[in-house]
Amino acid sequence: MNVVKPIKSVDDLMKAGLVAPADRVALEEVAARYAVALTPAISKLIDRADPDDPIARQFVPDAAELTIAPEERADPIGDHAHSPVEGIVHRYPDRVLLKAVHVCPVYCRFCFRREMVGPQGLGTLDAAAMQAAFDYIHSDEEIWEVILTGGDPLVLSSRRLGEIMEALAGITHVKIIRFHTRVPVVDPEKIDAALIAALKASGKTVYIALHANHVRELTPEARAACARLVDAGIAMVSQSVLLKGVNDDPDVLAKLMKAFVEIRVKPYYLHHPDLAPGTSHFRVTIEEGQEIVAALRGRISGLCQPAYILDIPGGHGKAVISGSAMRATGDGCYTVTDYRGGEHSYPPAD
Ligand SMILES: *Cc1c(COP(=O)(O)O)cnc(C)c1O
Ligand code: SF4
Repeated sequence: MNVVKPIKSVDDLMKAGLVAPADRVALEEVAARYAVALTPAISKLIDRADPDDPIARQFVPDAAELTIAPEERADPIGDHAHSPVEGIVHRYPDRVLLKAVHVCPVYCRFCFRREMVGPQGLGTLDAAAMQAAFDYIHSDEEIWEVILTGGDPLVLSSRRLGEIMEALAGITHVKIIRFHTRVPVVDPEKIDAALIAALKASGKTVYIALHANHVRELTPEARAACARLVDAGIAMVSQSVLLKGVNDDPDVLAKLMKAFVEIRVKPYYLHHPDLAPGTSHFRVTIEEGQEIVAALRGRISGLCQPAYILDIPGGHGKAVISGSAMRATGDGCYTVTDYRGGEHSYPPAD
């Protein structure tokens, strides 16, 4: 059997035919700053003959990452300002992020936490830090939901995941446990019976927010992995990032959102790209984003509509930015734009 190994370096990328030897020096510089990894499933998916392949663009490092725009920052969404104990980010009263691990099976070139993830990143919480995080969640009865993110929490072994679920199962005010992950897409075989069993916790509802940005990521293997999760009673939602050269087109996004719905993954968020360092080549403007999202409205079912979201820089939380259809005209009156571009007064003028 031909065992395909994960790609973790510029050398590996060259051997896999994913980068040209002429780019080596620049890419070594990129890789020294930001972690590089592709799983075999993702490497296989890349069309080597297409210089604009949307999968390659998400995962293969690019010399453009060495250009830092003035508005970019190391902690673009301000996690640090809201971290009461190591591994916890507590911005909203009813929910916390639990960042148990800062490793991912792939490293997205646009990652908003690119300064914190990877082999040189913040590492994995040790047993004492983990216990302190659980104690923090336990001490605040308002915490209704725990969101495991990172890093990618599903890189953990089934045994470790089982331990985390067991600890959370013992905290009665926590009702929802949510995982943010790319694993069902980038390493679908990891979603096996042992992992699914580990994600069960008595009395808790488990959600998985699946990160994917292009319909080609939803391969038959990825779809089967999602089906195993949903069949096991785990609810799934989607999370995508609006990225120039990947999905900044209503047709491309419509295909992705419809595919999510077809595999029982409810479209949840479409993120405007964050101001992470070296990612300006991925950014569309807010205005372009609003136009793309408005074009989805009339084109596809309401089931397929994600909310277009901006993580406000500085730790101020998320804001919906697809509200461009409603323009205030004063005195509680608005102009509402329908999906064809027609304008209407609200409340209606008779
Ligand atoms: C994004 C985020 C959440 C989750 O927000 P939802 O709108 O519930 O998906 C929770 N806490 C922090 C700190 C976040 O950045
Ligand atoms: S999987 Fe998430 S945390 Fe990991 S590199 Fe991609 S965006 Fe960043």
